[in-house]
Amino acid sequence: MKDIKKIVNKFIAYADKYLELNKNDEIFVKNRVLEILSKSTGEKLTLEERDEIFSTLSLMPSKIQEKFSSLLATDGKAAMDWFYNYCVHNDYVKLSQLNKNPRFNRNGLIITINKAKPEFKNPQKAKQENSVEGGFAECVICRENEGFGLRNKRNLRTVEITLGGEKWFWQFSPYGYFKEHGIAVNCKHIPMHIDKTTFINLMDFVDLFPHYFIGSNAALPRIGGSVLAHDHYQGGREILPMHQATAAYTLYHKDYLDIIAEVVSWNGSVIRLVSKNRNSISALSEIIFNAWINYENVELGIIAKDDEGFHNAISPTLRKTERGYEMNIILRNNVVSKEFPDGVFHAHPQYHMIKKESIGLIEAQGLFILPGRLEKQLNYLEELIKNNIALPKEYAEFKMVYDHVKIMKGDVHEAMQNEIARICNCILKDTAVFKDKKQMVNFLIDLGFNL
Ligand SMILES: [Zn+2]
Repeated sequence: MKDIKKIVNKFIAYADKYLELNKNDEIFVKNRVLEILSKSTGEKLTLEERDEIFSTLSLMPSKIQEKFSSLLATDGKAAMDWFYNYCVHNDYVKLSQLNKNPRFNRNGLIITINKAKPEFKNPQKAKQENSVEGGFAECVICRENEGFGLRNKRNLRTVEITLGGEKWFWQFSPYGYFKEHGIAVNCKHIPMHIDKTTFINLMDFVDLFPHYFIGSNAALPRIGGSVLAHDHYQGGREILPMHQATAAYTLYHKDYLDIIAEVVSWNGSVIRLVSKNRNSISALSEIIFNAWINYENVELGIIAKDDEGFHNAISPTLRKTERGYEMNIILRNNVVSKEFPDGVFHAHPQYHMIKKESIGLIEAQGLFILPGRLEKQLNYLEELIKNNIALPKEYAEFKMVYDHVKIMKGDVHEAMQNEIARICNCILKDTAVFKDKKQMVNFLIDLGFNL
């Protein structure tokens, strides 16, 4: 590597400006960076070397916590703003890559194609990325990953927060799907679960950070997150489409007159509880949760329990507005059938070329994260249509998309986006446990609600 001292000085100047490098640490840090660069053999720095340099330039976790806590004492937003910018500057949040993701708003949904998350074609590399072998962590989201080199977490920084009187921590996602996307993780490695404390924890979180939403995936496979072994929530600064959906029906509960309950006008099945009273929200959320877990309606295909275990679950997701706490309870069911082996209330097979993976918390709220391969595939389909070329055999699974876009008038790219949004809305309808909102009203009336 040429001009090595010049490069070191550049890094140090960067750390002075953006990473709050203490003047008293400068000589030490400079020599550490020099050493890493001296050992580098390639023309360009590898991801590992870059990580190592940025970790060396970053404050130690204790200093990060000190600053975060001091800001949090008076202003949660200021604390998160500072921490987020820090994680962008220390290269943990790959913002420049995220900004390259195609993204559009259509038919009430936000749709993104996630190119930022590397697609590991080499299974060995993927294994390394997800492995915690040789480290102190029990899983990929344990706090013990902070600084763990074998998973490129050298420059990861986390901050501790208190939820429900317990220790949790917050970290931003390197390949986040939306504005300031992060996860709140229990400091203890305990399985995902939802109970009364979940509602309280979520409210504690938005009390600390009222500019964020926070939610939990359903704690069952096929309908939720990929990490069920460790309790965690997802949140961030974006107002997602479901948050803005209005009420199809408004109800009141006889015992909780300070709560407005809304059957949300949304393609999924969502009940929204709105109140300024925390205790009422957590009590009524628990009533709905317990009723849903045991609810069965064979006619609608809702099987609560069979040989495989329980199938009903909820995804609660919360934000704070001028109306108070808005607790959205998304009703989910993960039962499978012969006809739908991937899930009765999952994206049906005719849409799998667009999205086959679980429809988790983020998609259920109207932000669809589609696989990176689609960018190329959809561009190719657009070219075929523009040039009036027939659909080749290897693209047979896209026949529906091709046929629909072909007969749409106007700009082909826009027509393609309309079609993708239409499919995503159909997927949301597939996940709805109550296809008719009146069925959901009846479910609530049985729990003591009135229209
Ligand atoms: Zn863990």
